[in-house]
Amino acid sequence: MRAIAVEPGGGEPAIVEKPKPEPGPGEPLVRTLRVGVDGTDREVIEGHHGEAPDGEDHLVLGHEAVGVVEDANGTDLEAGTVVVPTVRRPPDGETAYFERGEPDMAPDGEYVERGIVGAHGFMAEYFTSPAEYLVTIPGELAHLGFLVEPISITEKALEHARASRSAFEWEPESALVLGNGSLGLITLAMFEGTPGYDRTYCLGRRDRPDPTIAFIEKLGSTYIDSRETPVPEIPETYEAVDFVYEATGYARHAFETIEALAPNGVGALLGVPDDRAFEIDGGTLHREFVLHNKALVGSVNSNRGHFEAAVETLAALPEWVTDELVTGVFDLESVGRAFAGDDTTIKTAIEFGDV
Ligand code: NAP
Ligand code: BGC
Ligand code: ZN
Repeated sequence: MRAIAVEPGGGEPAIVEKPKPEPGPGEPLVRTLRVGVDGTDREVIEGHHGEAPDGEDHLVLGHEAVGVVEDANGTDLEAGTVVVPTVRRPPDGETAYFERGEPDMAPDGEYVERGIVGAHGFMAEYFTSPAEYLVTIPGELAHLGFLVEPISITEKALEHARASRSAFEWEPESALVLGNGSLGLITLAMFEGTPGYDRTYCLGRRDRPDPTIAFIEKLGSTYIDSRETPVPEIPETYEAVDFVYEATGYARHAFETIEALAPNGVGALLGVPDDRAFEIDGGTLHREFVLHNKALVGSVNSNRGHFEAAVETLAALPEWVTDELVTGVFDLESVGRAFAGDDTTIKTAIEFGDV
């Protein structure tokens, strides 16, 4: 079967031939339909994040997959069921985090991530996975199933952000998304469906006309250009916001988020930056953080519950939102276009089989 892989340390994604996987006990064989591409895939390709499985000379990419069960192999999943796999797996047998259904909270070394860190991903014509890591989705969502994983990332971040404010009456009215990449825009669309967020903003660094700015404004949200209004100036130019969702991977934004927040606000940090040293006024930020009861939560990955919530969220998104978010679905012959991160691209996927 054909798969898309990179060499350890990154490089151009290449189509490689691999044997069709043999499912082990408890593992259905899944025929891959589509696999999405995100900023993390580009970071793996550029060699900034991730690693190949131990002792292997390549990493099969892909962590945002949807497929159809081809052979249930004695599991409860029926052939023909459309499934989305979760990303993390235990490295050597079960660990405590996996046993309690919280692999997303496992520290380094206690997990591998399919398509990212230490385990082959789903960009292949077939994959296998223990059934417990496969989340069933309605057949009519099959063509969009690759959006379940990124939505689940935001389900988790929102849960943790809300939990950090659960000790008091927190009624957010405004939200700011930093980053107009696919994760930022999916999240912005999720806010539009969430009661409470009357005013939303999304930060980018693009000139008009631009499809992401058009998308932001069609959602009824306000586009903020970081070149004109850096994050610390947002309270004065617009307003201090109750919730910030950082999805730029730009390291200064982690700290500047504190300045953009209103009293009692919370920021969720999602970006995965490279090492970067810079100066900040730590005293001002520390004081601001404490005297206004602010919170910051880092959030990575997501668990099965977040995937299940994401399926509901995806089903509720207006059709125009997913139509405009997904700017391209490419077959294996045009793989290069799927990984392109140009300004006309929002979200792409690679199609491995007929939906
Ligand atoms: P992406 O497509 O690379 O999006 C990042 C966006 O941020 C780009 O549109 C970029 O603008 C914008 N940006 C960067 N620096 C900026 C600045 N200084 N001012 C304004 N805009 C800026 O990546 P993604 O897939 O949406 O993911 C976003 C980040 O989240 C990445 O770091 C990714 O690794 C991370 N991530 C984390 C998790 C998790 O579990 N924590 C899950 C998924 C992704 P331009 O396009 O104009 O350059
Ligand atoms: C994936 C997560 C993963 C994270 C860090 C993200 O793009 O969606 O599942 O945990 O990268 O590797
Ligand atoms: Zn991802």
